Amino acid sequence: MAQIVHLNGSFLPLEEARVPVLDRGFIFGDGVYEVIPVYGRQPFYLEAHLARLGRSLAAIRLANPHTDAEWGALVRETIARNGPDHQALYLQVTRGAAPRDHTFPKDATPTVFLMASPLKPIPPEQLEHGVAAVSFADNRWLRCDIKSTSLLGNVLLRQAAAEAGAAECVLFRDGRLTEGSASNIFVVRSGVLLAPPKSNLILPGITYDVTLELAARGGIPTEVREVSEGETRGADELWLSSSTREVLPITQLDDKPVGTGRPGPVFRRVHALFQARKRELSGSAAHA
Ligand code: PMP
Repeated sequence: MAQIVHLNGSFLPLEEARVPVLDRGFIFGDGVYEVIPVYGRQPFYLEAHLARLGRSLAAIRLANPHTDAEWGALVRETIARNGPDHQALYLQVTRGAAPRDHTFPKDATPTVFLMASPLKPIPPEQLEHGVAAVSFADNRWLRCDIKSTSLLGNVLLRQAAAEAGAAECVLFRDGRLTEGSASNIFVVRSGVLLAPPKSNLILPGITYDVTLELAARGGIPTEVREVSEGETRGADELWLSSSTREVLPITQLDDKPVGTGRPGPVFRRVHALFQARKRELSGSAAHA
């Protein structure tokens, strides 16, 4: 079945979708995006994703081209026009095409793009054994709270992690944990779940919020506070969270085992709660 995407009001096969070369998304990375997981054809935490999209657009001073109801309809139609039950719904808005000039164009029309791809199942061995991560200094800009398509910093960091044979990086800025290249990072110490607070230095992850919500429901003690590099390196458990990877245990950091080197008991609890939440909201069997 052909992959059908939405571009500026039309649905068409992916291969036929084109944007002008002067689109500011191409020229400047002047745009924002969302990735929404879809389980059993139901978007997961759609309202939260649309709220974050609204905040990203406001932060780059681009008027939201759609109401939440319109976005909801576009998201649902894109899901309906594509085959898989479990999808990763990608949505992007750029400042549109205009003669190249850094300042905002006066009359450009934003480019709106939605694409549904199959959501890759979480490899069972990653749940059983965890994944490896490597640490780097967080050298990205100071507006990591904006879900911007300008991802060069993240791309270079993720590539460095991949070349080190790792699934993700763990980033530190001024001796403090920030996040991963495409995920939020959690630490467990003495049974307490620690999460760096939302600020300009991290993306406010939807899965981060879901994880904290589930931990609270499960009675797991949680502290949202600055986490030092030392606390991270000495963690009993380390996790990453993202819309496409859910919550995953990091069992190795810079070639050293994290805690016992095995996914920990707090992770197992939250992972089970996460799967239950997916079933609750989608009415479908677990995707992983
Ligand atoms: N931080 C960064 C830098 C990300 O790119 C992402 C999303 N890929 C996340 C955190 C996690 O956000 P979410 O849970 O909303 O996918």
